[in-house]
Amino acid sequence: MNAATQRQPILPGATLGVLGGGQLGRMFVQAAQSMGYFTAVLDPDAHSPAGRVSHHHIRSGYEDAQGLAELARLCAAVTTEFENVPAAALEQLAGRLPVAPAAASVAVAQHRAREKAHFVHCGVPVAPHAVIETAQQLAAVDARLLPGILKTSTLGYDGKGQIQVGTAQELAAAWEQLHKTPCVLEKRLALDFECSVVLARGRDGRSVHLPVQRNLHRGGILAVTEVHAQNMPETLAAQALAASKSIAEGLDYVGVLCVEFFVLQDGSLVVNEIAPRPHNSGHWSIDGCDSSQFALQVRAMTGLPLAAPRQHSPAIMLNLLGDLWLQDGHTPRTPPWAQVLALPGCHLHLYGKAEARAGRKMGHLTVTGAHIDTVRASALRAAELLGMAPF
Ligand code: ADP
Ligand code: MG
Repeated sequence: MNAATQRQPILPGATLGVLGGGQLGRMFVQAAQSMGYFTAVLDPDAHSPAGRVSHHHIRSGYEDAQGLAELARLCAAVTTEFENVPAAALEQLAGRLPVAPAAASVAVAQHRAREKAHFVHCGVPVAPHAVIETAQQLAAVDARLLPGILKTSTLGYDGKGQIQVGTAQELAAAWEQLHKTPCVLEKRLALDFECSVVLARGRDGRSVHLPVQRNLHRGGILAVTEVHAQNMPETLAAQALAASKSIAEGLDYVGVLCVEFFVLQDGSLVVNEIAPRPHNSGHWSIDGCDSSQFALQVRAMTGLPLAAPRQHSPAIMLNLLGDLWLQDGHTPRTPPWAQVLALPGCHLHLYGKAEARAGRKMGHLTVTGAHIDTVRASALRAAELLGMAPF
């Protein structure tokens, strides 16, 4: 797209497209529609959460030239809801219409080794690590990286594609188990807690952000996000924001970006990874903020002004995994929604997935209120009713 066509914002009434039909695509579609846009989803699954609520659903693979051409014909701009879309698909679209984020940014985010190199380039601290792509690199691994976590460079999510290794022998066996695919070995760090920043950056280089989010993961999957004034020391929050901005600037990023961090037990901050899209840890913004991360995605891709979002309520988000639909791990049940929704400040979001499986993200519950103490009381009671461990 040339500069002239980018200067005019794409206004409501136009059709916006999204690559991927999962829950992130669904919430993007809902935000776009509420602003008066038409939507098109490209996803091969006939029952995808986003496809079900979109005006148009193109059922094709992400590399299908015909499907991509149809998306380009329908839409005024396109975004993505997951990072594993082939760069070639984004490039094919970018030749015809505005695409945000750009293929080059997505290519960094979808590859752990490239991502880490970008963080280092931006001067943001990362976990000690080694790239393992060859037998020579495996043999040369510094013993100080053990015990560590071997992670595939591509296609990992929710802790998938990761193996904990204690010794050099275990490392070699783990790499074998991962079919000697390109990996990164990371030292296992002593975490105090985790946090993340969701920011939106426009074509003019200006960015806005949500408040820093405190995240609890269980088994490699996000379980709880808490956002309120006392969720972490202010100096750490300021460091996380500054690091996120420099990572986005270094990519000349356009769109919504999430940056995930570890806070170590010695109080230092280390960047973990980025997602070139809205993020699970930002879902609370739908109910706790005057502009959600999905509304920001719409504004960034259309070139509309990015007004700074304001949090109006302290918020706690509980992720609703498929386990909650399975009594004793296997017998199907319906979670006690009526009891949960009797609690003050509960906002239920279900993604319309027919089949509940352990670890599958089925929905989330955001609790808001005037004060964090009442929010926490409701959230803890909701967790208890749902059969989730307290936090
Ligand atoms: P994914 O792409 O699956 O989200 P992550 O690299 O973010 O993978 O790892 C998932 C979770 O595993 C993290 O949120 C964190 O809780 C834990 N984890 C990952 N890497 C480390 C590490 N180097 N040290 C300690 N814990 C880690
Ligand atoms: Mg992660």
